[in-house]
Amino acid sequence: MIKTEAEIKLIRIAGKILSSVAKKVKESVAPGVSLLELDQLTKKLIRDAGAEPTFLGYQPYGAEKPFPASICASLNEVVVHGIPTGYKLKSGDLLKLDFGVTYQGYIADSAFTIGVGKITKQAKDLIEATRNALSVGIRECRSGKTLGDIGWAINNYVVKHGFKVVKGLSGHGVGKELHEDPPVFNEGQKNTGLKLKPGMVLALEPMVSAGDPYITQLEDESYATRDKSLAAHFEHTVLITEKEPEILTR
Ligand code: MG
Ligand code: MG
Repeated sequence: MIKTEAEIKLIRIAGKILSSVAKKVKESVAPGVSLLELDQLTKKLIRDAGAEPTFLGYQPYGAEKPFPASICASLNEVVVHGIPTGYKLKSGDLLKLDFGVTYQGYIADSAFTIGVGKITKQAKDLIEATRNALSVGIRECRSGKTLGDIGWAINNYVVKHGFKVVKGLSGHGVGKELHEDPPVFNEGQKNTGLKLKPGMVLALEPMVSAGDPYITQLEDESYATRDKSLAAHFEHTVLITEKEPEILTR
């Protein structure tokens, strides 16, 4: 799980490309824009930067079909893994976009949630709580801390703000593969689990529900909250160092 300097260098470049692509795609989110348009834009921007969209053709163990797009676009009650369609965004939608970039065989992974047009106060609060839960988790990404410390911090923050961490989905190690060991859970006990060491690269990704924490799988293999309540998702790829955590997808 410890990456070499050479590997970290490549993941860092993948992360830089990802963050600049995600910023441009975010600026394109507006009522009337289709999810397929955002997908095509993402693919073009990633390839223009000399990299590849990681998700395109990705087929994890157990998935029925390879993923057909360059982004996951998940709306409202859908938490993650939404497949972009011709659906045109409407004011009030809560959109989660998840990006993967592969640069010379090394991968960075990051996601954000954005409200389209005018959204409810609850949706705004949910977005903010999830974004902050990610920051709180990243603060625990220090040599000597544990995976349990990350999970505890994320869950504690989410619960305090009246929401629930989605059950059954987690973050992960990332590098040569999109999903590597260890799983990075959004719940946990302080001082338990694997100890963090410099050179580990982890994708932290709190997924938060405004209602029920349980999920169900839809026909397109995406995951939605069982009670159809709104969900938010933020993710960064983070390097554990001797000192401060380095966010590689900032
Ligand atoms: Mg992701
Ligand atoms: Mg991920």
